[in-house]
Amino acid sequence: MVAPFVHDVPATRVVFGNGRIAEVPAEAERLGGDRIMLVSGGPEAAYAERVAHDLGSAVVARFTDVVMHVPTDIAARAVELARGSDANLLIALGGGSSTGMAKAVALETGLPILAIPTTYAGSEMTSIWGLTEHQRKTTGRDPRVLPRTVVYDPELTVSLPVDISAASGMNALAHLVEALYAPGVSPISFMQAEEGVRALAMALPRVVADPNDLDARGDALYGAWLAGWALGTTGMGVHHKVCHTLGGMYNLPHAPMHSAVLSYATAFNEADAPEAMAAIVRALRAAGQQPASAAAGIWDLATAIGAPTDLTSVGFDPANIDAAAEVVVAGRPVNPRDVDLDGVRGLLSAASAGDRPAG
Ligand code: NAD
Repeated sequence: MVAPFVHDVPATRVVFGNGRIAEVPAEAERLGGDRIMLVSGGPEAAYAERVAHDLGSAVVARFTDVVMHVPTDIAARAVELARGSDANLLIALGGGSSTGMAKAVALETGLPILAIPTTYAGSEMTSIWGLTEHQRKTTGRDPRVLPRTVVYDPELTVSLPVDISAASGMNALAHLVEALYAPGVSPISFMQAEEGVRALAMALPRVVADPNDLDARGDALYGAWLAGWALGTTGMGVHHKVCHTLGGMYNLPHAPMHSAVLSYATAFNEADAPEAMAAIVRALRAAGQQPASAAAGIWDLATAIGAPTDLTSVGFDPANIDAAAEVVVAGRPVNPRDVDLDGVRGLLSAASAGDRPAG
């Protein structure tokens, strides 16, 4: 029998394919954007030059001071620039940090966003915003920050370094895993999440073997699209709560931390989410793996692509397990298995040790 669900998927126009960056001016026009503020930072900003050139005088402002986790003082400057230049469209080009900065502006101004993602983080498909002040990150959902259009061009991801590609891919996988066991997940979201696991598990080893393989890059970005969509349309559980907590308390790097925690969060929920675990195993098998279990299969995938599988290697000090566990439990994540102190301590100890979860 189909379990009860709510399927509420807000519309985002998705334009996907190699070379589609050339269509950004037409897509901007569709959104009525003739006074554009372009947000981009890091090495990926090189692609923004191309977009700025194609858009010509429609670009009235550029914001390049992109910082991970969107500090409020920097976001305030971006808002000021958007207002001062009378922009009517935001274009965010880059990873989750660029998208996050544009979202902070949209939250204040209501301006529409056209997003051009260059990592697998998935923020472009969600109405989730995040802002950080005094080492505390606050997140929320607001339909105003959901990009109206997303242009996915795999060619823009070829320059993403292999280690960041692998960790970012595991970050996307985390959205899919938690979508599969989200309470009230719709049948469509479930299928989409399983397909996303398959796509990423197929693509990531090929991306790592040859970062210039455009087919592999395209498949990975396809999986990332499904993952971002899953993140935006379902609720997340203990894994995201742990990562949010550790990121905020200890400033751990976002994607590597997700990679390090994921197989242990999956093991934590293994007995309480049998349908999700079966879907993960099916998807990994379809990708050519012979997983002993969902958690072991995820660990094997991370190991095969050189992504982190232990928290200490990404900067977490196991002496902080108790303090972190208390904050995770106080956050009361909605999760298939009850989230209590002993359980989270066990999860964090396992993630700190980094051993392969039992299969
Ligand atoms: P990021 O945007 O900081 O990018 C990671 C690194 O890769 C940066 O150094 C960046 O300059 C570089 N980079 C990106 N694209 C590149 C390319 N094509 N070529 C070369 N280098 C490139 O990190 P991220 O992992 O994409 O995003 C993390 C941030 O996004 C965090 O703040 C996280 O909280 C947020 N996030 C938000 C959501 C949401 O729904 N709101 C979802 C996922 C992540």
